[in-house]
Amino acid sequence: MKVKRIWFDNWHPSGPLYKLFSNRAFANLGTSSSAKVSSVIRDGDWNWPRPGSSLIHQIQRLIPSTMQPHGDTEDEVIWSISPTDHYNTKYTWEALRHRGRKVQWAALVWFSRSVSKWSFILWLACLRRLATKERLRKWGMVIDPGCVLSSQRHETLQHLFFACSYSRSIWQVVLHRFQVQRTPDEWDNELMWAVDHCRGKSFKAFLFKLVFAAGVYHLWLERNTRVFCGQHRGADIVLASIGDNVRLRVCTWEHFPNSLENQSLCRCWNISSKVLGA
Ligand SMILES: [Zn+2]
Repeated sequence: MKVKRIWFDNWHPSGPLYKLFSNRAFANLGTSSSAKVSSVIRDGDWNWPRPGSSLIHQIQRLIPSTMQPHGDTEDEVIWSISPTDHYNTKYTWEALRHRGRKVQWAALVWFSRSVSKWSFILWLACLRRLATKERLRKWGMVIDPGCVLSSQRHETLQHLFFACSYSRSIWQVVLHRFQVQRTPDEWDNELMWAVDHCRGKSFKAFLFKLVFAAGVYHLWLERNTRVFCGQHRGADIVLASIGDNVRLRVCTWEHFPNSLENQSLCRCWNISSKVLGA
């Protein structure tokens, strides 16, 4: 390493040494602040001026045995966060981003056969970031708190998508098409129920996740159309819109087994059985 400086440059696997140790520790190296890494390498081995110091022990301990010192070779630029030493978008993104704890509903919201804008609205709802009237009022806006879908209760996340009489009438038909008998509840309970009933990679699981996201998206769209445009559509129209858009998306799917259950689901959702294999 002809050019790299021991204390300031990024040659060590843990990064520049001045970031790891205090400035006072530098005095224990026994070299000048501008000393090159090549100055502590001799005959292909480390040759520290003070090999017995605790600082040198710590520096050496963090160097993997596979990293052989070469004092007479030219320095080269490598992308150290990538296993191949070359630039890689994936490893760069992984190094930059903060990876949070995986949430229970991740697989319900994000999956390869989804529709991005549906997943996005569902994601906002799961994060409780949709601008419902309940949230707008908490921000100090003076607005009518009533639910525009039913006019029966205040518009909250818990009420809007499943517990509302308008939304519930849609969800009951949706659940019936999946041969499920239950009364839709408030948001938290329906979300957890959906998470438990969308596991696996079956046609039914993917179709359910798609319909769930489509339902939340189209109900939010209807809510916004009523709030901002004053236009109202009946629940049957919204339900038909959900069915049409789900059908358009599913017709691009393929490679699912041609089982009796999948055939039945295709009939219930008016989907061509061509999406099922032979
Ligand atoms: Zn309502």
